[in-house]
Formats: sequence, C-alpha cells, structure tokens
Amino acid sequence: QAKKLSYLYINDDTVEIRDASHLKGKDTWETQQALEAEHGVSGHRMSVYSIGPAGENLVRFAAIQGDYGHVASKNGCGAVMGKKRLKAVCIVRGTKALTAHDARGLIQAADEIAHDLKTDPSTSTLYNWGTLFGVTNLYKLGMLPIKNYTTNLTTVNMEDWAPAKLRHGFDHRGHQCNACGMHHCHIQVIRHGPHQGELVDEPEYEGWSGAGWTIGLTDMEAVSWLNTRIDRACVDVNEFGWLCGWVMECMEKGYLTEKQVGFRLNWGDVEGAYRLLQMVSTREGFGDVLAEGVKRASEKVGGEAAKCAVYTQKGASPRGHDHRGRWDEMLDTCTSSNGTMESANPTFQTEIGLPARINPFDGEQVARLTGGILGRRHFEDSLGGCSFTFRTRVEMLARALSAATGWHYSLDEAMRLGRRTAAILRGFNLRCGIGPEVEYPSERYGSQPLDGPAKDHHVLKQWDHMLDVWYETVGYDRKTGKPKRETLKELGLDWLARDLWGK
Ligand code: SF4
Repeated sequence: QAKKLSYLYINDDTVEIRDASHLKGKDTWETQQALEAEHGVSGHRMSVYSIGPAGENLVRFAAIQGDYGHVASKNGCGAVMGKKRLKAVCIVRGTKALTAHDARGLIQAADEIAHDLKTDPSTSTLYNWGTLFGVTNLYKLGMLPIKNYTTNLTTVNMEDWAPAKLRHGFDHRGHQCNACGMHHCHIQVIRHGPHQGELVDEPEYEGWSGAGWTIGLTDMEAVSWLNTRIDRACVDVNEFGWLCGWVMECMEKGYLTEKQVGFRLNWGDVEGAYRLLQMVSTREGFGDVLAEGVKRASEKVGGEAAKCAVYTQKGASPRGHDHRGRWDEMLDTCTSSNGTMESANPTFQTEIGLPARINPFDGEQVARLTGGILGRRHFEDSLGGCSFTFRTRVEMLARALSAATGWHYSLDEAMRLGRRTAAILRGFNLRCGIGPEVEYPSERYGSQPLDGPAKDHHVLKQWDHMLDVWYETVGYDRKTGKPKRETLKELGLDWLARDLWGK
C-alpha cells in the first residue's frame, strides 16, 4: 500500500510511482484528462486506466476504467487499487517493437482469425456491431432482464433497439482499442434532453441492460448518459443494475422506505438512479449499505426485500442477462471460480467434440456442454488478448501462439493448459472457503419467470442434477468440490493433488 494516493507511470524503461494527490476525488474521465494534460500526450499514444470515487471509497464492486469506456469490471478490482492507494496506471505508447518467433506464420494466423471473425455467421454480427445485437436477440428468448426479473415482456417497440438503430441513432465514431479492426466500442453524442451535446461511450449490451432495462429505463439518451456516469464513477454496471433495480422494486412494494433510502426512487428514474450511484460511490447514507453489493445489502435489510435480490450464493451477481432463460450461463456463473462466467459461451465447440446445438432447458445437456468447454476461456485469457477477437477455433489460436513463441502448441495442449488453470483457480477458491455449498442462485435469480418465452421452465427443478453432471464432466469431486486426484494427475498437477488431498 502506498503512503499517499499515487499513480504508476510507465514510459519504455522509465517506471515511476508518482504523487496523485491532485487527482483525488476525480472520476475516471477527469483523471484521464488531467494526466493527458500533464504529460501532453493523448489518444492511442497514452493509455490511462484509473479508479474514480467508488474505487477510492472501497466500494466492493468498484471497477477499473480506461481510455474513455473500456472497463475491467469484476471482483472489485477497482477497490483493490483503492486499497493500495493506486489512482491510475498511465502507460505511454512504447517505442520498442516485439519480436515473433515466426513473423510470417503469425501474420497468416492473424489473417485467418480475422477472416473467421468477419465471415462466420456466429461471429460476424459481433464483428460488425460489437454487442449491440444482444438487446433484441435476448428479448426474443426471454433473456433480457426487465425490471429486476419481475417481467420478461415490454410494450416498447423492440425494432427501435436493433443494432443499426442503436448505433446510427447517435452521432458517433469508432473508439476501438489500439490496432483493433472490430466495429466495437464507439463514442457518441447525446442528442437531446438535459445532457444534450455531452460525449458518452456507446453502451455495450451490458450497459443497455444494467443502466437501462434492469431498472426500467428505456430512454436511449438517458441510458447512454447513466452508463457513462457509472463508468466514470468506476462502478460495475451489472452490479449497479441489480442493486438499483432491487431498490426500485423494494420501494414500489413497500419493502424499503423513503426514510431508509433517503429519497423516493421509481422505475426508470434516471436522475434518481444517478443520485443512488453517487451515494454508493461515496458511501453516503444508505449508499454505505449498498456499497457492499446486492447480496450483502439485501441480507442486511432482510424480510421480503431479501427475496427480490439477484445474486449468486458465492456473493457475485450475474451479467446483464435473465439467466432463467439461459441455464448454461447460470450454471457457469454459480460454479465459477472467478466471480463471473468462467467457461463462457460455447464457441466453435464442435472442434473439441461437443454438439453444435443443445436443448437449452435440458439440464443434463446444458451441464455436459458447460463442463465440456471448461478450459477454453482460460487458454484465451492466458494469451492476454481480447476474448471478442478470439472468437475463432482454438486450433487457430494455438497456431498463432506457436508462431509467436516457437512453443508448438496443439488444440489438445491448449485445452489442457486451460483446464490446469481452472483446477488451480478452484484450489485457490477452496482454500478461501468457497466450495460447493454455495453453488446456488439466490431465490429470485433461480426463480421461474412469470411471463415471456421461458415462463414454462424452472431451472431449480433440475439444479442438483445439473451440478452432478457438471462435476462428473469436469472431473471434480461432487461432495468436496475438489478436482479429483486422477484429474489433477492427468493435468500434471501432482503438487496440487498433494495440497488438496494430502499424500
Ligand atoms: S473487440 Fe476487443 S480489442 Fe477490439 S475494441 Fe472491442 S474490446 Fe477492444
């Protein structure tokens, strides 16, 4: 922990911890602007990842936000920076080139990955629109979370929420990460209303959901504005959505009072939601309770209010989906060792012998698929790239890795590396006391939808069987949650087997 608020400055071989007292209390965009002015560098020539007030005040779901709209949002990583009194990491673009073992092979692999991204039907929408297609697609399947899981239907015209309308309805320009060719991440301008003319980052699907549908807000200008305010405060938009939606529902039903919260908050009230965000970010009044996250806040309030909160028993909350219509994501989120989806969505899974399609409401099929893909995302993440640009076959990624390093990775070795990582993460969680006894959704998270396309399906009726099948598929022990001794041996993790199981 630094003695006073500091920032880390990196410029080629210069690595310095510098005083950041002048940045105290600034939001993430203000911090970036101040550091750009201080160093006289901006755009892709300098990257700044920082925390806002929520990180400084150790809000449990504080995020790290960078370069106007890019966010590392899970597990309170912003609170970790706040605890260490690290306000920002500021990196000037390096001048020294990286070398590849086989530059030609690497370029060929990159070209083929780009080709897959642009042309494969399962990835080209992401290439063209980022995650904007999520709103309309998920609504059709009952997976768009509306008003804190109280309904899956709306009278809003969903054609207005098609990706092209969301993007071209605003003046906008691309704001991708350095050197990325995907049509993802834009900056846009608020067209009208009280914040007319303000620059905001185009909400991801998760932003349209967490800062919008989950809290009953469907005015696109207002959602865009609130979403950016959430980024600027450095708050995870998913957790904020579940928290704000929970407060709104509880106030509507009388489970929370104006006296407790400090003011009246109704569905879709953007200024009220912003006020709540400020209270959370500064831990003011009831905001101090909310800053502990929706699980702890709802448990503290108790009674009927506790039954309305969406979270996993491990303490995290899901992404901005209604997982009652998406069982693979709920199972993945609840069994996860990383606080969010660990296996992630199936991508080109036929290359590892898994079916292209399953019945999404057959718990056994869901569990076999979710367990079967475990390891792929870990391998991707270990490469240090963006998972959106890695939506290709693992075999292609392994080829790229081999060309970059000369290590000769195959598909099987890549998956094995990923499963090793998953097993180590699980061992770490077990040491921290997080085991199978908390692999359940909260009452509301695991409830049966009241309406919409998934209303005839109740995930909890199959939950225990899903866990049985998932454990069998990944080779972990159902009772203790530990990866089995033979699984660890197969993965070459004898040291972990000794650690978890003794001699
Ligand atoms: S696809 Fe990934 S690398 Fe490209 S702009 Fe989006 S987040 Fe950045």
